Formats: sequence, C-alpha cells, structure tokens
Amino acid sequence: MKQKELKEKWDELLENLYQENRLDDIQISTFFKPLLPIRLSEKEGKLYLKCSNNNPTFYQNKVVSYYNEIKDAVFAVFGKEYTIEVTDDGEIEEEESDNQIREDRLNPEYTFESFVKGPNNNFACAASLAVAEGYSKKYNPLFIYGGPGLGKTHLMHAIGQYVKQNKPKKKVLYVNSETFVNELSEAIRTSKQQQFKDKYRRLDYLLFDDVQFIAGKKFIEEELFNTFDALLNAGKQLVFTSDQHPTKIDNLPERITSRFAWGISVDIQPPEYETRLAILKNKALLNNVDVSNEKTMEALELIAQNTEGNIRELEGAFSRVLGFSLIMNQEINVSLTKKVLSDLFKPKNEKISAEKIKKSVASYFGIKVADMESSVRSRKVAYPRQIAIYLIREMLESSFPQIGEMFGGRDHTTIMHSYEKICEEIKSSKELYNTINTIKEKISE
Ligand code: ADP
Ligand code: MG
Repeated sequence: MKQKELKEKWDELLENLYQENRLDDIQISTFFKPLLPIRLSEKEGKLYLKCSNNNPTFYQNKVVSYYNEIKDAVFAVFGKEYTIEVTDDGEIEEEESDNQIREDRLNPEYTFESFVKGPNNNFACAASLAVAEGYSKKYNPLFIYGGPGLGKTHLMHAIGQYVKQNKPKKKVLYVNSETFVNELSEAIRTSKQQQFKDKYRRLDYLLFDDVQFIAGKKFIEEELFNTFDALLNAGKQLVFTSDQHPTKIDNLPERITSRFAWGISVDIQPPEYETRLAILKNKALLNNVDVSNEKTMEALELIAQNTEGNIRELEGAFSRVLGFSLIMNQEINVSLTKKVLSDLFKPKNEKISAEKIKKSVASYFGIKVADMESSVRSRKVAYPRQIAIYLIREMLESSFPQIGEMFGGRDHTTIMHSYEKICEEIKSSKELYNTINTIKEKISE
C-alpha cells in the first residue's frame, strides 16, 4: 500500500473512532494524531506507526490500552486485523516483495507478449524490441511519443521486463517525471544529491516516462541533462516517452531536445478497428473469456466499433462488460454489452426512426404496420398502436400533432389520450413494463 493511501486510511480510522464516540477529541489528538502510518506489513500482520518525538513507548502503551477501542476501527478500514507497532525509526525496510517492485518499478503485466501489434504501433514496437535486445546503438535515446492511452508506458515496461529476463545483470530503472522530481527534491532537501546521482548513473537502462512534465522546472532540467549526458557517454540506453514529438515539447531547452534527436523518435497512433478488436480479444483471453463463442465475439466487435482510439478507454469498456457478466453470471453478448455501455451507444439512438418503432411494435404483436396506421379499432390493433405512440413520444420526443400525422392523420387529442393511457398502465402492470422494455431493446439493436 502506498504511503499516501495508508495515510488516508489512517485518517479515516481516526475519523471513525471520533464519529462512533469510541474516543474523544482530546484522546485522539493527544495519543493518535502525532502518529504517522509508515508501513503496512502483510507478512507480519502489522501496521507500523512513526511518532514525531523520541517517545515511542509512551504511544505504544496508549495503543495497547486503547486497543479494544481501535481494533474494530482497524478492521473496518483495512478489512482485516493488524497489530500496531509504534516506532521512532522511519527507515524501516520495506518487505521484500515491495522491494522488488520498488527497485525497478516495472509492471509485470506490461510485456511484449501482451502488447498487440498493428499498423499504428508496429514501428514503435520494433524499435522497442531492438532496444531491449540491445543490438542497435543507433536507437539511443529511443523516444516514443503519442496521445494518451495508446501504449507508450506499456512498451516502456515491456523493454524493462525483457531486459530483466534476458540480461538479469543489467540494471534497469523505470521512472516518470513526477517520481524523478520528487526524488531529486528530496535528495536536495536532505543533502543526498550524491546518492541520487549515483543511483541514476549506475544504470544500464533508464526508462523515463512522460518527460514532457519536466518542462519549465529549471533545477530538474539541469539534473536530467547531466544524468542524460553521463549515461549516453557511457553507452547506456535511454528511453523516453512523451505526448509530443521532442521538438514540439514547449519549454524544454534546446540542449535537451537536441539530444533526444540524436537517437530515434517513433510515434504511436490510435489503433484502427482491426487492432482495437485484436486488443479486446487478447484482453478477453487473458480473463478466461470464451472467444470461440460467436455471441461474445459479436459483443467485442460492437465495442471495437463504438470506441475511439484510446486503448485505456477501450479496456475500461471491456472491464465494465466483463464485470457485469460475472456478477450476473451471464455470457458476454450484444444485448448485455448494450445494457452496460448504454452511454457509449447514445449517438446511435439518433438512428431510431418512427418507422423502426412502428415496425418493431407491429412485429412483436404479429400485426401489420399498415393496420396500426389505419382506422381499425379492434383491441388487437388499438393496443399495439397505443404502445407505438407511447414509444415514439418517449424515444423521439415528437409532438402529439406530429405523431397524429404518423398514424393516418389522427387528431392530437386522441394521440395524447393514448399516450397517457399507457403512461398510467405501465405504472401498475409489470407485464406491460416488460413488453415495452423488450420492444425498446429490439428497437435499439
Ligand atoms: P500511454 O502511456 O500511452 O498513455 P499506456 O501504456 O498506459 O498508455 O496504455 C493504456 C492501457 O492500454 C494499458 O493498460 C495498456 O496495457 C493498454 N494497451 C495499450 N496499447 C496496447 C496494445 N497494443 N496491446 C495491448 N494493450 C495495450
Ligand atoms: Mg503513460
């Protein structure tokens, strides 16, 4: 759990204690507010808190004496029981698993294998692989650019994973602008610039994500520039990503952008339909969804047709559909997808016409559209007609006189009467409610 998240949970816990009157204001502010959560250890089942003065024993005793009061609060917030240990030593070592993530900060899911290639990203992908294999010195630095959610970060991590697996001795570090800025600021504040420099200059691969956010921060630019030069001179590999071509990043000094241009710049474009579909299929496979099921494939096609190029959004849409299908224990198909992603399909509603509504209603009741438009008054025809009137009013917001025209020039008061009758009936008849929903779904298909 990240420090920030941990702190939020801790604050929430204190708030709960207060709200539930388990401890009073003074107890909370004297005994607990001075403590800062620094680590949640799953292995030990412990929450470590740091106290701001040199008296951890005092606070530890308080924790123990109020443990009954706070035990439940801990459970409510963390979903599990933890014992609490107060320490005045903030430099507690992270757990090993944490350490590994920390060391290179690579996301194991972002690999070349899980990266779907298409005309939009072929070149970027090939260049990344070349860099990971390390056979071309020309590609240094490698600069990957493109819009949000198109796979830049994914490719960068893929390079890192590849190097880690195939050349375990090489030192790889992934960093984004924000982390770099924070680390450098912290190093300056605590006079540990040298450690900072050493850490970065020891690397064989520096993967620097979203470099555009460095722009305009002078002391950062300087350090980046120096790190950059030191690594390049030592023949180490640099990879950058950005939302823009290097020469188009505003506010970055020329001496930096010109170095970007020493290597190679590759772009990623939004994926076209086929690639979007391939990405969805891949995602489905990874989640054990049966993609040999035709209905499921139809649903994936529908999602691919209705999303733009941003892959993050594409994945988001799929995850919502998948989540719903798991909760409802239903297969993924077109109707489920439409239900879950109704917001995505809104523009399509414009294609709904009065004709389509009339046709769907008529076919549902097994009558002819012409009968509905005629003056026939038998219930067999009149009832579907009223439903069609209701649906046209609801779905197309046509006026009563307009609807009158659609039904053989009927008077608008007759239309209004039909509409209101259905509005009333639908409130009390579950059967009618279901009928209308079924027809609506057919109309939207
Ligand atoms: P960016 O860094 O360009 O904003 P990301 O690399 O974070 O985009 O990609 C957004 C999401 O889309 C990630 O979950 C990533 O795994 C996924 N993604 C992007 N491109 C592909 C691809 N070609 N194949 C599979 N997944 C992809
Ligand atoms: Mg990114």
